Amino acid sequence: MTQEELFKSLIAHAKEYGFIFQSSEVYDGLSAVYDYGQLGVELKNNIKKYWWDAMVRLNENIVGIDSAIFMHPKIWEASGHVGAFNDPLIDNKDSKKRYRADVLLEDYIAKLEEKIEKEVEKGKKKFGETFDEAQFRATNPNVLRNRVKADEVTAKMNESLNSGDLEAVRQLIIDCEIACPVSGSRNWTEVRQFNLMFSTQMGSVSEDAGTIYLRPETAQGIFVNFLNVQKTGRMKIPFGIAQIGKAFRNEIVARQFIFRMREFEQMEMQFFVRPGEEISWFEKWKEARLKWHLALGLGESKYRFHNHEKLAHYANAAADIEFDFPFGFKELEGIHSRTDFDLSQHQKFSGKKMQYFDPETNENYVPYVVETSIGLDRTFLAIYSSSYCEEKLENGEDRVVLRLPAFLAPVKLAVLPLVKKDGLPEFARKIMDDLKYDVNCQYDEKDSIGKRYRRQDAIGTPFCITIDHQSLTDNTVTIRYRDSMEQERVPVDNLRKIIEEKVSMRKVLEQI
Ligand code: ATP
Repeated sequence: MTQEELFKSLIAHAKEYGFIFQSSEVYDGLSAVYDYGQLGVELKNNIKKYWWDAMVRLNENIVGIDSAIFMHPKIWEASGHVGAFNDPLIDNKDSKKRYRADVLLEDYIAKLEEKIEKEVEKGKKKFGETFDEAQFRATNPNVLRNRVKADEVTAKMNESLNSGDLEAVRQLIIDCEIACPVSGSRNWTEVRQFNLMFSTQMGSVSEDAGTIYLRPETAQGIFVNFLNVQKTGRMKIPFGIAQIGKAFRNEIVARQFIFRMREFEQMEMQFFVRPGEEISWFEKWKEARLKWHLALGLGESKYRFHNHEKLAHYANAAADIEFDFPFGFKELEGIHSRTDFDLSQHQKFSGKKMQYFDPETNENYVPYVVETSIGLDRTFLAIYSSSYCEEKLENGEDRVVLRLPAFLAPVKLAVLPLVKKDGLPEFARKIMDDLKYDVNCQYDEKDSIGKRYRRQDAIGTPFCITIDHQSLTDNTVTIRYRDSMEQERVPVDNLRKIIEEKVSMRKVLEQI
């Protein structure tokens, strides 16, 4: 199965089992907006708790807030979003399709890179053990030609995007002979800047001042509350403020399922530090955040850092944690050293001081900020896609299993009476009524036991227990483990301990 086919089947699986639905599906859907179903919301809540506990509960100097989505419109002028939160757009005149000009060029560069890798693979096959990859890359004419072209286009693209020369961006698309994937033509419009913020009206519709925005990031709600939290919480620098909440972006290229949505959730933490200490905190947070990811157990090779060489005007260091999604390595989390840009801008635009008096140095200053910003939906997709597995069993049967980290599984325990009579359902209910206070349980008495196991495998339930006639006499049940499919007979009294041992979030948090 190709990666593309696998991705398609995991999207279908997410719908079939109530994880994720297309928004407004009965009206043919709303593009790049999704709803989380009955199991999706459980998994999402568990991810949020893992992040919140790791950031807020385990760090005495980090506290959380929950700020409103609507904010004063001046905030977005101060932050630079009104002026510069833009994507360069281009339309194909024949298909009437709209594209991000930078994405068209990036896809073109990616194709050149692909050609290079294919050539190297061919060389490997041809020369076998004597293959010298470095020499091949340095001398093969096809590799060299594509390398020069890729570097040239990348450099020109960066230069024209950074200088805001949109005509040069268009010319580059034409020079590279990039055609619209739908119409196949190269009949392009001008490139225009398109602001990604959604706007709406508050109060009187006619007044211009009534225009407000749906926040495109949660961070600004933290910046404008910096002094409220610092003073009321008696926080001393260094300290952090964390928040989980919705953000909205009118994304042009909205594809790849929940990877790029128009309404999504972020988990952000702004860490306020002394000026001059930001780079060492940036390094510490990079390391701490990677540890958080690795403790999920999805595999070290799934992650890599991408350090930004081109920095945004407000940053003096930035790195992404990228994840190996079914469509390749892409940004999952950003860690940015944002200097004193945001607080200084709010000081300027609001006319209110955003300073901190440092009792240790007897100085007043605008703190510097290191932020960690992760997409909740992208984390969901990372965990979900790397847990999804289609297996062929020894007996020839197929099974689909979600090998979710047990502590995140939506349902931790399935309680299954072997038959629907002889007092087995009542016995099963009694166990469930006790354990439901500890973990999310699901009761199921329909269909054969094999079918019920498959249903639980498909939603990632780490444990199933089966109640049979013997249970009534010796108070034991059969426990079956999702990953190994092994079964063992255990006393009912031991169940809580066995389950909690495996699904404990504490154990995972202790690793980070
Ligand atoms: P990208 O380059 O992929 O558009 P970004 O650099 O604009 O992302 P940030 O502004 O740094 O993203 O936002 C922080 C995090 O929020 C990202 O790492 C990502 O996980 C998440 N995020 C951003 N945009 C979206 C979106 N449209 N849909 C889902 N998650 C998003």
